[in-house]
Amino acid sequence: TTDTVLPQRRKRFAGNLKLSYRRPITLLRGYKQFLFDQDGRTYLDGYNNVPHVGHCHPRIVAAAERQNRLLNTNTRYLHPAQVEYADALTSRLPDELSVCFFVNSGSEANELALRLARAHTGAVDTIAMDSGYHGNTNTAIDISPYKFNGPGGRGAPDWVDVVPVADPYRGPYKGSDPEAGRKYADHVRAAVERIQARNRRVAAFICEIFPSVGGQIIPPPDYYRQAYSAIRSVGGVCIADEVQTGLGRIGTHQWGFETQGVVPDIVVLGKPMGNGHPIGAVVTTPAIAASFANGMEFFSTFGGSTLACVIGREVLRVVDEEALQEQALDVGTFMLDGLRELQKEHAVIGDVRGSGLFIGVELIKDHDTLEPAQRQASYIVNRLREHRILIGTDGPLDNVLKIRPPLCFTREDASHLLGRLATVLREEPCRM
Ligand code: PMP
Repeated sequence: TTDTVLPQRRKRFAGNLKLSYRRPITLLRGYKQFLFDQDGRTYLDGYNNVPHVGHCHPRIVAAAERQNRLLNTNTRYLHPAQVEYADALTSRLPDELSVCFFVNSGSEANELALRLARAHTGAVDTIAMDSGYHGNTNTAIDISPYKFNGPGGRGAPDWVDVVPVADPYRGPYKGSDPEAGRKYADHVRAAVERIQARNRRVAAFICEIFPSVGGQIIPPPDYYRQAYSAIRSVGGVCIADEVQTGLGRIGTHQWGFETQGVVPDIVVLGKPMGNGHPIGAVVTTPAIAASFANGMEFFSTFGGSTLACVIGREVLRVVDEEALQEQALDVGTFMLDGLRELQKEHAVIGDVRGSGLFIGVELIKDHDTLEPAQRQASYIVNRLREHRILIGTDGPLDNVLKIRPPLCFTREDASHLLGRLATVLREEPCRM
């Protein structure tokens, strides 16, 4: 029970491994968009994006079981599953992104992306977005300004230049400004100049196309086209971290970068690829991949294992055959419309934003100062849990409700979430 598991967990794990909820939930089982706790209670999962096509999706479970019984081995042997998966993945990306590296997590994939960019350019300096998050390994922390001073963080490294997150709500240039994209891109140009003024060269610009940990932000149009061109004009490499946004979640497109009409030089993938099984990937151009071919091996024991590839391949099939990207667009649009209706009635909702099932609701205390309403955000998340609906909070000020369920989430689920959210918003702590 929670009463026995909780003290054991406190003893065996460091205190900075946080639990969702003040009163934790002990989960024992999941199925599609539902989670079941030890007392048989059912929760609607509006939060977990790792089970991309649904918790314990029967087809993914079956594929994993079949392969587990047959063979699991590393990439030093030939196996059709590895090339089939790499073919399927690259066929979903622009033609020039045709070479895959398989690893085990988003953090590893970002480390590798940066290493490739450095090998390709011979440079080290990197531009990253403030409140960007790219993982918890040493270099991934170094390019995650959000974590510079987090556990194991070493402050801002001297090879990283930080640019403001292109946030059309809270940032200096608002969505209503048609020049916002250019103005944010000017910060990237300025970062390039700072690096050059130090007599160094730019290796990479890395960002989540839609910053997620930063608060589910949708940058203004034309930002990336201009930012990428500033980077490429000095020989730098553009890395898109699609760990949160990739594989159809945003509904309108399969990848975040497509919304901005750019093609990155390196795409980083993680979380949703394996539906809960640890898989990460870097996909890049033959020219960048070739910069690694110096006679030494690049190898990851589990990366691209037979099991990982079979699971990853099945995830792609399920996304297509169940039309989950289309569902994400339909259900996400329905949810965003409903949230905007709630925004009209509740002053605490400052901004509703998102695309498909990548959704943020920013809560504020004051519409002029945008003073963040963290307490209300936490109240809502905890109250919804009592209604057996799981969502989270995020953003540097922890005042953004984060809604990013498995893609099998339905309109009925969205209606249910909206109805319960409306109830909670009427409660005293949410009134302004
Ligand atoms: N990039 C982004 C955008 C992420 O959100 C995360 C994880 N939240 C990572 C990278 C790191 O992935 P992992 O935890 O699989 O190492």
